[in-house]
Amino acid sequence: METWNRSEREKVKVSWNGKVISVQPRIRLTRSFDQRTHNYLGYILTIRGSVDGEELTFTVGIGKEAQSKYHFETGQVVRGKSEKVPDSKSEVSDYYKTSELKVVEKGAEQKGFGPPWQGVPPVLEVYRERGHRRLHARTYERNCRICIWGSCMPVEMIIDHWNPRKKKYRFETFCYGPKSCPFYRAGPTRKVPGRKGMIWEEEDWIDQDAVSHRGMDE
Ligand code: SF4
Repeated sequence: METWNRSEREKVKVSWNGKVISVQPRIRLTRSFDQRTHNYLGYILTIRGSVDGEELTFTVGIGKEAQSKYHFETGQVVRGKSEKVPDSKSEVSDYYKTSELKVVEKGAEQKGFGPPWQGVPPVLEVYRERGHRRLHARTYERNCRICIWGSCMPVEMIIDHWNPRKKKYRFETFCYGPKSCPFYRAGPTRKVPGRKGMIWEEEDWIDQDAVSHRGMDE
């Protein structure tokens, strides 16, 4: 396997800067029929700005250590250098492996109350403890992309646990926010393919169970 030293890595990085539009958790989901596991990787910054001089909106995946150091939130102007994500199946963000991160300007705008909720997102343990409900992909695009409780996860599905190399990939959207949020729409149930053409359906009770320890406004 090819390994790069630090200076070789720095050479392939692109410089970016811009204004933070949203900060959401960076969580990877693995499904194996009716089983699911979460891998809490860090956070995703959506930034409107430029990459190597080109104007665009892009996303950068960062670790939880970077978030706890810089307290990223909507409205800040930030910059850094990152690698382009080579495998878009297992990563939602466009860029990752970031160095030279810096908050250039603090956010000046008033965030007010949600929904959608903005500001500094909580630590990843809070997301784990809260649990999520599935969120309609269209609702996520329309209302939830800027909310700290929204999440778009890359999903790896192990089709046959006797042959774990047989996998499929997709993205799924979730809400970790208050159950009373007026924007919330569940959307269709999620179906997970298994061996010999079998399908498992993730029914509504699974979502209800995952957030049953929270009140409507928590
Ligand atoms: S539905 Fe969830 S993610 Fe969307 S705005 Fe409400 S709390 Fe945020």
